[in-house]
Amino acid sequence: MESCHNTERDIDKLLAKFESYKSQYDSNLTQLEDQIGKLKEEINQLPADHVIDKHHQAVLGQYNKKIKNCGQKLSGQHKDLHSSVSRIGKTIDRNFDADCSSVIPGSFCHNAKQEKLLNTAVCEHYFRQGQLSLAEDISEEARLDIDDSWKQPFVQINEVLQSLRNHDLDLALEWTAKNHHELQQKGSSLEFMLHRMQFINIMRKGPHAQTEALRYSRKFQAFADGHSKEIQMLMGSFLYMKHGLANSPYSSLLDEQNWDEICDMFMRDSCSILGLSLDSPLLASFTAGCTALPALIAIKSVIEQRQCSGVLTDKDELPIDIDLAHDQHYHSIFACPILRQQTTENNPPMRLTCGHIISRDALNKLIAGSKVKCPYCPMIQSPVDAKRVYF
Ligand SMILES: [Zn+2]
Repeated sequence: MESCHNTERDIDKLLAKFESYKSQYDSNLTQLEDQIGKLKEEINQLPADHVIDKHHQAVLGQYNKKIKNCGQKLSGQHKDLHSSVSRIGKTIDRNFDADCSSVIPGSFCHNAKQEKLLNTAVCEHYFRQGQLSLAEDISEEARLDIDDSWKQPFVQINEVLQSLRNHDLDLALEWTAKNHHELQQKGSSLEFMLHRMQFINIMRKGPHAQTEALRYSRKFQAFADGHSKEIQMLMGSFLYMKHGLANSPYSSLLDEQNWDEICDMFMRDSCSILGLSLDSPLLASFTAGCTALPALIAIKSVIEQRQCSGVLTDKDELPIDIDLAHDQHYHSIFACPILRQQTTENNPPMRLTCGHIISRDALNKLIAGSKVKCPYCPMIQSPVDAKRVYF
């Protein structure tokens, strides 16, 4: 994270330089253009047979010098910008480890099945991003045979999202009407927020739209229970309709940020209804990978120093715990209290008849004869009665 901050700081500095160069460039050129325009006018007003006298020659010479100086100054600053841009490259090199492939043991994709899974994840990611033609191309090239019914939800979500970004609410309102019950079950405010936005759009039109806004406000009746405060606020804004909401205490209703919030809310709630995670599996894995990478690179160098091998294997496990943010937790995990290890497909959690859960390897180790004694209660039971637990 520190590396990102360092790089960001340098990029911000560069952007500020660009901005100041641009404003200086613009003001210098406009000033020169104005002055030259005036001079041209002055010369045009002179009679056709007028011979350019010493005074005009001196003025022309002066302007010539000014233009030259300005050009030199700007090109000098431009050169300086170039060196600042190339310094960003050095900052990136200094702050980031270019070779992180060293922590990947063995090959990345072991077989055709894994390769297909990876390609499907890439393809799904682009479908979610609304890059439909790119996703179709990947699907075709990797021969994924993606079913139309599988892609339909992504296509639909993106259509609605695109229209919301263009400040058009019709498609989103149509979608929420269709999914009304599911949204209500999830306690979503999306439907209300869309109607609220539509109402604000009518209010924007000015005093002549008062009747239209009043008529539209009837839609809020259905949401009165959960959103009474917001509805009161919307109704209060009527008082300022004549003078415009922009200069009223309700000006926040016109914030551009409201559209960003509504897009985020639509994405979150539509994904939830379709049973999809908010981030694509590819993005979620990538983010988790970025969090884990520094610790893995650090442990790799320790392994190399101590010359011990076999810690980084291509098995389904990592040599150290990686703390991920809460929104990165997708599955419940179970660590065996006896072996103090996270359970896996090969060593799954097993529920004993007494209700205690331990891993299968621990269970096998505890078997004495044909019986097993629970290490917790300690009930003696038959190991065959233990049942696998699925999280
Ligand atoms: Zn027990």
